[in-house]
Amino acid sequence: NKFEQLGLSESLLKAVLDLGFENPSEVQEKAIPLLLEKDTDMVALAQTGTGKTAAFGFPVIQKIDANNRNTQALILSPTRELCLQITNELKNYSKYEKGINVVAVYGGASITEQAREIKRGAQIIVATPGRMQDMINRGLVNITGINYCILDEADEMLNMGFYEDIVNILSTTPDDKNTWLFSATMPAEVARIGKQFMTDPVEVTV
Ligand code: AMP
Repeated sequence: NKFEQLGLSESLLKAVLDLGFENPSEVQEKAIPLLLEKDTDMVALAQTGTGKTAAFGFPVIQKIDANNRNTQALILSPTRELCLQITNELKNYSKYEKGINVVAVYGGASITEQAREIKRGAQIIVATPGRMQDMINRGLVNITGINYCILDEADEMLNMGFYEDIVNILSTTPDDKNTWLFSATMPAEVARIGKQFMTDPVEVTV
C-alpha cells in the first residue's frame, strides 16, 4: 500500500484503510509528501474527481493541533454542496483523531446554529465565501490565528463572483499562514489571487 510511503500518521492510515482507498491518486501522491514535509504555499492544478479533497485534507488534519480549540484552518469552496461534501470527507478522514472538529459554514441555513457550532470549537472551518464574510462582519468567527488556508476550486469561486469576498476574508488572516490553492484551470484572476496571497508556491499539476 503506497499510502504508507507518504508520511501519514497511523490514525490517518487507519482511516484510509476503512475508506477502502487502495492506492493514492496522482495528486495525493504528489501533494501529500510536500505538504507534510514543510510549511509551504502550494498551487495545484487538479480537476474534481482526482482525489484532491484528500490531497489537502490528510495534510491539514495531520498538521493542526487537536489540543488547541482555536480555528487553525479555513477551507473556502464555491458551493454549499461542495462545502458539505468536503466537511463530510474530512470528518471521515479524522475519525481516529481525538478532538478535531470540522464545521461547515454556508448560506441558506441558520447562521445562529453555525455560530453555535463554531463556539464549541472548530479547528477546521469549511466555508462558502459569502456566508464566511457575513460571519466575520458580525463577529461570529475569528480566523485571525489560522495557519492554513485552502482555496478549493478557486476558478469556480471566482467565476461565481467571489473575488472581493475572498480578498476580504484572506486580508483578515495572518501573513505567515500557508495557502494551498486548488483549481482546475488557471485564468488570470486565479493567478492574481495567487500572486497576491502566496509566496513561492510549490506547483503540482495532474
Ligand atoms: P475528490 O476529487 O476529492 O472529490 O474525490 C473524488 C472521489 O474519489 C471521492 O468519492 C473520494 O472519496 C474518492 N477517492 C479519493 N481518493 C481516493 C483513493 N486514493 N482511492 C480511491 N478513491 C479515492
